[in-house]
Amino acid sequence: NQQQRIILITGANKGIGFEVVKKLIEQPSSNSKDIILLGSRDIKRGEDALKQLGSPPNVHLLQLDTSSKESIAAAANEIKQKYGGHLDVIINNAGIVPRDNTIQAARETQVTNYYGVKMLNEHLIPLLREQGRVVNVASSIGPMALHCFSKDLQEKYTSETLTKEQLDLLVEEFLSTYESNNVEKIGYRPDLPYLVYGVSKVALIALTRIEARQYSGAQNIFIYSVCPGYCATDLNNKAAGARPAALGADSILYVVDTPNHELENGGFYLDGKKEPQ
Ligand code: NDP
Repeated sequence: NQQQRIILITGANKGIGFEVVKKLIEQPSSNSKDIILLGSRDIKRGEDALKQLGSPPNVHLLQLDTSSKESIAAAANEIKQKYGGHLDVIINNAGIVPRDNTIQAARETQVTNYYGVKMLNEHLIPLLREQGRVVNVASSIGPMALHCFSKDLQEKYTSETLTKEQLDLLVEEFLSTYESNNVEKIGYRPDLPYLVYGVSKVALIALTRIEARQYSGAQNIFIYSVCPGYCATDLNNKAAGARPAALGADSILYVVDTPNHELENGGFYLDGKKEPQ
């Protein structure tokens, strides 16, 4: 008697996102009618993923490059035309690590991991039904990095009154000092491994709290961020010692399946536990 959900997962053609789709298909019969939109920026890679899953009738490929406004708008149209125009769950899973130390790679990382999610949510949250939810896939590397930054930056990123405009400004300031090689001047730690990636996930966790405030109340929409844990995927060249991506999927699905009233709106979760931000 559970309502059929329409669930969108971005970057679901491989890695943790793919495992999320796999687990949603395998879930017990109560949810077997969920409609799953498997987001992939590349059609061929998306089709291959669908085939690998055995092309279940309730899983549909949705071409979606989360860094492109045009692609997000086209996906929103497709959802309106083919799937009744609404969603119940949005899982913002697509993400990258910078391929090198250049400013281009740093910008690309912020565009995919932060700005892209912000843009997608602005376009697609209006399609969410009552009690709908958004899961932003962040990383514990975010809070770990944040605690190495200046007190001033820590306060700014975690302020309960932070706005999207102020957050954009923080990310832009980071990028401009990164380009001129003086991030330490404004409180960042240049020696930190994963600095650029960490900042993108700090920003995403902060965005989640802003969105939770923005959409709570009358709209009854809930937004969470999640760390999938350190999983062996292409993102880290299948790092030795890292856990299987399926466990990362479990960490995400906890927040997808737990009743909203048992979770903290805007909270950051790892393996079913609320983490400090
Ligand atoms: P993978 O590299 O295995 O998969 C990333 C997915 O994101 C791919 O499907 C990729 O598509 C897609 N993607 C990247 N950029 C875009 C874009 N612009 N538009 C649409 N899709 C895009 O990584 P993981 O599965 O490991 O990562 C999933 C998420 O989990 C990320 O957000 C990551 O930051 C986060 N995470 C991962 C951890 C880990 O240990 N693996 C730890 C903490 C967080 P394509 O195949 O086309 O490149």
